[in-house]
Amino acid sequence: MLVRLLYASRTVPALNPEELHAILRRSQAENPAAGITGVLCYSDGIFLQVLEGGRSAVNRLYNRIVADPRHTDVELLRYEEIGERRFAGWSMGQVNMARLNPSLLLRYSATAALDPFSVSGEVSMALFEELVATASVMGQS
Ligand code: FAD
Repeated sequence: MLVRLLYASRTVPALNPEELHAILRRSQAENPAAGITGVLCYSDGIFLQVLEGGRSAVNRLYNRIVADPRHTDVELLRYEEIGERRFAGWSMGQVNMARLNPSLLLRYSATAALDPFSVSGEVSMALFEELVATASVMGQS
């Protein structure tokens, strides 16, 4: 039983680049053993993350992530049972926002800023798929 989970959150104000790297390192180290794949997007104080894997593994990880003091306002955007993964190539991919064409964000939202709190989960998922299609995700495993 595979599931895909999408959530958004706000980073605590004090989060620095080293802590962001620590989250990614930890994810890339832990996720393969748990059979988890996905992508983490960070921009201007907002996290958007998609997790895929077995239902129990994804639910366990999501509960740990919700309790993590490095972010707040964790909001579940989408949860679905799936037949196959879309992000199988990444133990935890990272979106390079610096290389992102602003027109890509404009296609899905009112401004060229990442704001998953103001759009539907479907729109955020479509953005993720586009990011993968345009090779904007780094850290292929
Ligand atoms: P421990 O390592 O035993 O830590 C105990 C507590 O301290 C936990 O609540 C933990 O969240 C917190 N903590 C750990 N390190 C720090 C730190 N440097 N500063 C402040 N608090 C800390 N983990 C994954 O395995 N896979 C993922 O894909 C993943 N994605 C994440 C995405 C985001 C946006 C965030 C914020 C965290 C993510 N994490 C991920 C980390 C996850 O939240 C847990 O910290 C990690 O899984 C370890 O959990 P643990 O219960 O073993 O905690």
